[in-house]
Amino acid sequence: MKLLRPFNLIILTVASAMFITGGAAAGEAGAQAWFEQVKGEPTLLRGFLYDFPKGGDLHNHLDGAVYAESYIRWAAEDGKCIDLESFVIISPPCNAETGRPAVQDIRYDSSVVNRIIDAFSVRNYERRPVSGHDQFFSTFRRFAPAGVLHEGDMLAEASARAAAQNIIYLELMQSYGMAEARRLAADNKEFHVDTPLSRLIRHGGIEELAATTIKKLDRVERQWRETLSCDQATVAPGCDVAIRYLAQVIRVFPPEQVLAQTLLAFHLIEKDPRYVGLNFVAPEDHPVALRDYRRQMEMIGELAGHFPGTENGITLHAGEVVMGLVPPEHLGWHIRAAIEVAGARRIGHGIDIFYDTEARQLMERMAEQDILVEINLTSNDVILGIKGDRHPLKAYRKYGVPIALSTDDEGVSRIDLTHEYQRAVETYEVSYADLKYLSRNALAYSFLEGRGLLESTRTGKFAGECEGAEPGGKPISKSCRKFLAENKKAELQWELEKRFKAFEMAYD
Ligand SMILES: [Zn+2]
Repeated sequence: MKLLRPFNLIILTVASAMFITGGAAAGEAGAQAWFEQVKGEPTLLRGFLYDFPKGGDLHNHLDGAVYAESYIRWAAEDGKCIDLESFVIISPPCNAETGRPAVQDIRYDSSVVNRIIDAFSVRNYERRPVSGHDQFFSTFRRFAPAGVLHEGDMLAEASARAAAQNIIYLELMQSYGMAEARRLAADNKEFHVDTPLSRLIRHGGIEELAATTIKKLDRVERQWRETLSCDQATVAPGCDVAIRYLAQVIRVFPPEQVLAQTLLAFHLIEKDPRYVGLNFVAPEDHPVALRDYRRQMEMIGELAGHFPGTENGITLHAGEVVMGLVPPEHLGWHIRAAIEVAGARRIGHGIDIFYDTEARQLMERMAEQDILVEINLTSNDVILGIKGDRHPLKAYRKYGVPIALSTDDEGVSRIDLTHEYQRAVETYEVSYADLKYLSRNALAYSFLEGRGLLESTRTGKFAGECEGAEPGGKPISKSCRKFLAENKKAELQWELEKRFKAFEMAYD
């Protein structure tokens, strides 16, 4: 259980005396009153939201979650070099005279390091000659070589940061095995768009690749736990953050290579419970992504039919496009196709909903079918220039479409999930009840295994076996205990409600 940091307690005591008059109601009402008071005080709001229990982050690319400073450190430790023209991390031999110094040699030279950090992120992007969109997507290839063999360290960074912010769950996107899947398709004539999919479903090469990818994930998780010393008596923050994975298909390659990646993704979900779903990534406005969008949606829909049980794990970046970025003909149908053709259960970004000629009908349908939109406020601002009233968040809320806040790439954007909660509070009308709703949604709409606990993420009321039970209250019934033990999703939802209670007690 996480307690408020002493720093906050001090502020709280002083501020309570200053602002709260007439004795605030206990628990939830106290937290609510305090939240209303600090809404306009960025410093106090940050402290409040940092400690506020946040169910999870459902849209988080692991490589983009890592901060530039970590990539620089790993490159230095591994003897790698950096090309100071392209700012790409490269293998030795290094040569400072030709502009390819060893990272170790420039590591503490702030004038160089500052340029590297800017190149690895969107820091200071407003001052660049390139757009936020281009800068954002150009960062990955620069730092990626520094992450090789540090995947467990990357997990350690993401999970420790999550734990510090009282986040219970991460659903991380990563592309393990995807480069090999692309190679397999490139080298193998069977992988052709004209080959009936049914003939490729049990392809031996993909089966083998799935097995080696799962072994890689074992190694990565071992490194994660070693980095954080999770097996020692005092468990470090981060070890207890529940992590599941989404297999990340890179959508901008030739169709047969995208097919091989998608097949691998379905095999991983089928074979390893840590893989709970898949996502399609890379710029949606890329010429190949635009050319193949519909075909890719059809392929996902068809493949899902061959892997029973995986159909509820499809989330897709869809509608991350706006007028001007792409021709109008490409606006207003990607979200619909992701839902209707590919069978997506969640939508990442969902920005271009405005351009759907039947947007209201579509949003009503999303609300009815419980299709959640993963909202990435900072990323949408940087990449698409969409913020404030131009963001569809308000429209989704109006039509009752479930939403959750996520970071997208917290390292590249140099933010964290608390920042995104704060941005939502400072931009939109958000109540304390809304905060809890957003936080609960990030577990309720996760692809975690097992049944859920809640009747509604608005009320937080428990349904079924645990109806009427109270976390931290009277002893729970045997059947509720059994239900929680058998359903991971319910177990984490219970934990979240418990953390809400503990958090609110501090405002009693
Ligand atoms: Zn994303």
